[in-house]
Order: sequence, then C-alpha cells, then structure tokens
Amino acid sequence: MTPTQIYYENLANTTMKNLKKRHFECHYCKTAKEATELAITLVSSGSTVSFGGSMTLAESGMADRLKELDDITLLDRSKANSPEEIAEIYHKSLNSDYYFMSSNAITSDGELVNVDGTGNRVAALIYGPKNVIILAGMNKVAPSLEEAVSRVRNVASPINANRLNRQTPCAATGLCSDCLSPDCICSHTVITRRSAPADRIKVILIGESLGY
Ligand code: SF4
Repeated sequence: MTPTQIYYENLANTTMKNLKKRHFECHYCKTAKEATELAITLVSSGSTVSFGGSMTLAESGMADRLKELDDITLLDRSKANSPEEIAEIYHKSLNSDYYFMSSNAITSDGELVNVDGTGNRVAALIYGPKNVIILAGMNKVAPSLEEAVSRVRNVASPINANRLNRQTPCAATGLCSDCLSPDCICSHTVITRRSAPADRIKVILIGESLGY
C-alpha cells in the first residue's frame, strides 16, 4: 500500500468507530469500484431509488451503475423535461426506499456536514427515504466540526459555484464571504450527529479522493 492508502485506511478506522457510536451503518472500501459494487448489494430488488446531485456519485461510477439496474425504479432528474418535472422528482424522492448522495464533509468524530442551496438533498438526508446511502472519498474527512464547515465553505462551495456558473463572491475569490447574493448556493447547513432510526444512514468511506 502507498503511504496515502495507509493514511486513508487508518483515518477511516478512526472515523468508522465514531460513526458506529452514532448509529450510522458504515463500511470502508479501498476503491470507488469496490464501493459501487458494495452499495448495489445494499439495495433490494423492486425498490424505488433516487439520488442527489453529487460529483462523487458521478466520478465513482455510482450514478451510471444505478442507471444500468433493471430491477429497480430509478427517479432520475436528468430525465426531467421541465422545472416542474424536476420538482416532482424531488418530492417523489422523499418517499424512495434508497436515496444516494455524498456528504460535503464528515468529521473524524463521526458527524456529517452538508450545505445545500435548494435543500432537496438535505431534506432527504434528514427524513423521508427509508435508507440513505452515502459514498464519500476520504478527502472529505475533516478533524473537527469547525474545519468540516470551513472545508465546505472554502473548498466545496467555491468549486461548485464555478461548476454551476454562479455569480458569487467565492466563485471569484475562492473563499467564502458569507454572502447573501441571489446566486448563493448555501441556504441550509445541516449537521447530522446521529442516525435515527439506527442504520437508516449508511456511510461508505472510500480510500480515494472523490468529488470536492
Ligand atoms: S455563502 Fe456565498 S460566498 Fe460563501 S460559499 Fe456560499 S455561495 Fe460562496
């Protein structure tokens, strides 16, 4: 193993110990490929599945893998033809059996940190889908809550603002200035400190750098 792989595995073991204390189901996979195959085994045949916008799900191949499955009903907003259809998928997703997403950050103490613009993704995380399956590269793990929030505001959000072509201060400077601009993508900051019911939220940590 490379030194980075050893570091990721050690940090994952520490983080998983704390995730388990908080009643999250958790797993560690060395690669994205292993993680997508594991995630598929967690999904029951005949179920309804949805997913939130996520570069991790795209880069890992998870989103494409879900689209290949022919024994599930996939609620896929990329198939929507209008804002109304997208809103309908968002609402139906709250009743899904499995909701896939990543987390903007995870503390080594086992808390999930997510910042959302519209709020559909964090709504599903909090309540609705029977199961939430989170795939996250080890680059998302931060040593404290403060550093996790800072990571989202000063790394993930500026890059997302550029990706979404938003005219925000962070898109121009690379740093959050706590804006209230019309294009702001930070409406909701959600800290998930435990899974209720136990094991509803399943976290798969991956020993690679994925998403941002
Ligand atoms: S609050 Fe505004 S400036 Fe800060 S990260 Fe969000 S969009 Fe960027």
